[in-house]
Amino acid sequence: SGTLHIVATPIGNLGDLSPRALDTLRTVAAICAEDTRHTRQLLAHFGLERPLLALHQHNEEQQAAQLVARLQAGDSLALVSDAGTPLVSDPGFRLVRAARAAGIRVSPVPGACAAIAALSVAGLASDRFSFEGFLPAKGAARRERLTRLAAEPQTLLFYESSHRIEETLDDMVNVFGFERRAVLARELTKLFETVLDGSLGELAARVKADPNQRKGEFVVMVEGAGDDADAKVVEGLRLYAKLKEHLP
Ligand code: SAM
Repeated sequence: SGTLHIVATPIGNLGDLSPRALDTLRTVAAICAEDTRHTRQLLAHFGLERPLLALHQHNEEQQAAQLVARLQAGDSLALVSDAGTPLVSDPGFRLVRAARAAGIRVSPVPGACAAIAALSVAGLASDRFSFEGFLPAKGAARRERLTRLAAEPQTLLFYESSHRIEETLDDMVNVFGFERRAVLARELTKLFETVLDGSLGELAARVKADPNQRKGEFVVMVEGAGDDADAKVVEGLRLYAKLKEHLP
């Protein structure tokens, strides 16, 4: 049977498409894409033209069965998403699961992933981190999710879009506290790439004050609760030492 290649594509800078990704896309029988128009443009940039099949949230389950049959018949296929690594807040999980269940070889062609790119420049603890993807769109559900994460000791990573970044940062200030350290990675690998760090309160104020800082695509990274708790103990001790001077 054929191989299902899971191919990462750039998150903004076309130079990040690897030579192996190009080779793979050139040689497969067809490419499964989230948005075929988007992928056709990417391929055109590299002078490639391949048969494209749409695979998105709404048809993935039914498409998966047909694609597995095609793989079993001997065709190799590639799966790409609009940007970055498939399956990471993108379609593909059902197809990969079905292919593996059918004993088909599933092989990665790794490359860009916004979360990992962001983590690599954040300067936050990276030995342990938790990728949280997109928060729920509705306010109450979003705050509930954040509340459940408030005591997690590892660095937290979130994806966010321009139209919700302000609300999300406000909710984070309310749930995690004004002082919690955070890093905002915007438009990575693109013209307006910006990486801001500071307290959550500072970052929320900064984004509110400058409409340009609300444009584009974001990875929001929040320091884990561990260091914050330590900081509170240190702050408590400092306060106690100060008070003691004034006590009889
Ligand atoms: N599969 C992709 C990956 O590997 O990163 C993520 C797809 S998800 C639908 C899109 C989200 O990823 C955006 O809303 C944003 O949070 C993040 N993202 C994608 N490109 C980015 C970039 N260049 N800079 C910052 N964040 C980005």
